[in-house]
Amino acid sequence: MGIVRIENLNKSYGKGNTKVEALKDVSLTINQGEFVAIVGPSGSGKSTLLHLLGGVDRPTSGKVYVDGIDIYNLSEKELAIFRRRKVGFIFQFYNLVPVLTAEENITLPLLLDQKEVDKVHLEELVNILGLSERRHHLPNELSGGQQQRVSIGRALAYNPSIVLADEPTGNLDSKNSKEIIDLLKISVKKYNQTLILITHDLNIASQADRIITIEDGLIVQDEVTGNEKL
Ligand code: ADP
Repeated sequence: MGIVRIENLNKSYGKGNTKVEALKDVSLTINQGEFVAIVGPSGSGKSTLLHLLGGVDRPTSGKVYVDGIDIYNLSEKELAIFRRRKVGFIFQFYNLVPVLTAEENITLPLLLDQKEVDKVHLEELVNILGLSERRHHLPNELSGGQQQRVSIGRALAYNPSIVLADEPTGNLDSKNSKEIIDLLKISVKKYNQTLILITHDLNIASQADRIITIEDGLIVQDEVTGNEKL
């Protein structure tokens, strides 16, 4: 079963002459464990698609199924729980809480959900992310690369089934950018997560299992790279 399935998805913003059709009847299936890169020009609908996959916005029409659940059939409350437990978001800007330490930022989603922190999982995550020496630092005491590692930790804390990343390296130099992508690849593989990542960087896209190109709200190319079998 495909972990993410979208059917005839449409999203428009505004009305009348200011109406923008950001996604036009898009259908797509993404399998569990797949690393998918989404590429395309600015304004083509990439972020809109990612937001709809993660339950942060509602489509104008069409369906999104994650693990077989029709997510836009859920109530607002159920959708919020779905987002917190099933989806990990990583953005270009790290959106960390400035008064919380690295470790507190990572465990925040669990605390918000009144869940016990799994110490073993947390240790493993902090180590994979190379943050063991920095766990008690505040975000403004960390470099950009380290802050992005914390935001990856926060996205992975709940062991979500899908990880959605919107230009996660857009703000980093090439060395940090490579490290972040390597980390994401290692961690999603380890936890068998599906990674859907928007990028303008063709070098990053070429590392994905599949590259989906969006133009003007439509999927214009959907290419399997063959990396998965390497
Ligand atoms: P991309 O991520 O590929 O740059 P987006 O999904 O952000 O593209 O945007 C697709 C189109 O939808 C663009 O024309 C953009 O201006 C428009 N758009 C996105 N979000 C909104 C919004 N909240 N209100 C109005 N228009 C929007």
